[in-house]
Amino acid sequence: MKCRHCNTELELEFLDLGNAPPSNAYLKYDDLRKPEITYPLRILTCTNCWLVQTEDYAKADALFSEDYAYFSSTSKGWLKHAAAYCEMITKRLGLTADSFVVELASNDGYLLKNFVANGVPCLGIEPTKSTAEAAKAIGVPVRQQFFGKAVGEEMANAGEKADLVLGNNVYAHVPDINDFTQGVAALLKPNGVVTFEFPHLMQLIAQNQFDTVYHEHFSYLSLCAVTSIFEAAGLRVFDVEELPTHGGSLRVYGCITGADHTKTNAVDKLLLAEKKIGLQTEETYKTFQAKADAVKDEFVRFLLDAKANGKSVAGYGAAAKGNTLMNYAGIRPDLMPFVCDAADAKIGQYLPASHIPILAPATLKERRPDYLVILPWNIAEEVMKQNADLAAKGTKFVTAVPSLKVI
Ligand SMILES: [Zn+2]
Repeated sequence: MKCRHCNTELELEFLDLGNAPPSNAYLKYDDLRKPEITYPLRILTCTNCWLVQTEDYAKADALFSEDYAYFSSTSKGWLKHAAAYCEMITKRLGLTADSFVVELASNDGYLLKNFVANGVPCLGIEPTKSTAEAAKAIGVPVRQQFFGKAVGEEMANAGEKADLVLGNNVYAHVPDINDFTQGVAALLKPNGVVTFEFPHLMQLIAQNQFDTVYHEHFSYLSLCAVTSIFEAAGLRVFDVEELPTHGGSLRVYGCITGADHTKTNAVDKLLLAEKKIGLQTEETYKTFQAKADAVKDEFVRFLLDAKANGKSVAGYGAAAKGNTLMNYAGIRPDLMPFVCDAADAKIGQYLPASHIPILAPATLKERRPDYLVILPWNIAEEVMKQNADLAAKGTKFVTAVPSLKVI
């Protein structure tokens, strides 16, 4: 396989999590006795541009793109984050009723509704029908399609260039990252700004976040790799911020190469930090598998001990992270009898491969498990607050990453 950005042959393996089904391939009761399709889940590092990426599989893209039932508005923390971003960027760029904002992967309108409320013209581009419809229903204009170079050029030719293009947690999920970035370059006004937020590879490595790896997550991004991808598309990075979201993310600010945005000190400072921590050193990637295995082993040991001691265990959050951990660790309902999730679309279904049933959160109040494993550790605080009554009655909260923690 060749690097999706620079076409260099990929020879450096970062992580091998065995075979796994697509993380959103939830099962109905009738599916449980049928065979399941799994794909190797292997991550490779390009030693030329340092883009870390999933290994390619024929026809996998189509399988991974549909039936995505995640609605951003279900997370209160995420809504707050989006509102704060809109306030900040409106001030920083001086956005008004004469500006135009485009969000790529606008989901259910969780973010753009803030611009609509402030009278800043905006448009969401979102391929998934259910979320696009939800956005339209609250008055957010949406084009229902995938974004890439062709769409960016088409909009530019139609006089729809943007002052701000933004993408929060989409950049790492794009299969053809060069084409997507070229689309942004075409869509920006001469002095327009693009901001992307994505989980930072530096944190993935430092915090053992191997469970953020899944097939639909094509790229694991560093500022170094993004700088290279931007430059090839005629863009440049002029600022960067480190955010606590998703276990440590970056917000990168870019513009067209010739635009007059001044580069801040933060850019070179972070590039240097990435280099010092070893993001451009082969050894860093070669030693990660052992760290991931240690986290997995510790988690399995905890579940085995709980079972041996007669303690009851439940999981919280039926999402990609949990599926990666469950599958890699080989957990089945004997060690984790059920997980709870607030999303109506998932309740009554089963996690892929592990076949753990997904139940409504109210079940926790009835069964009161001794341990509640919070699978999306990035929202652990929110989940603990929501379930404070369980803690008062003796339930302990557990997170597995970066290392096992029982609270
Ligand atoms: Zn490369």
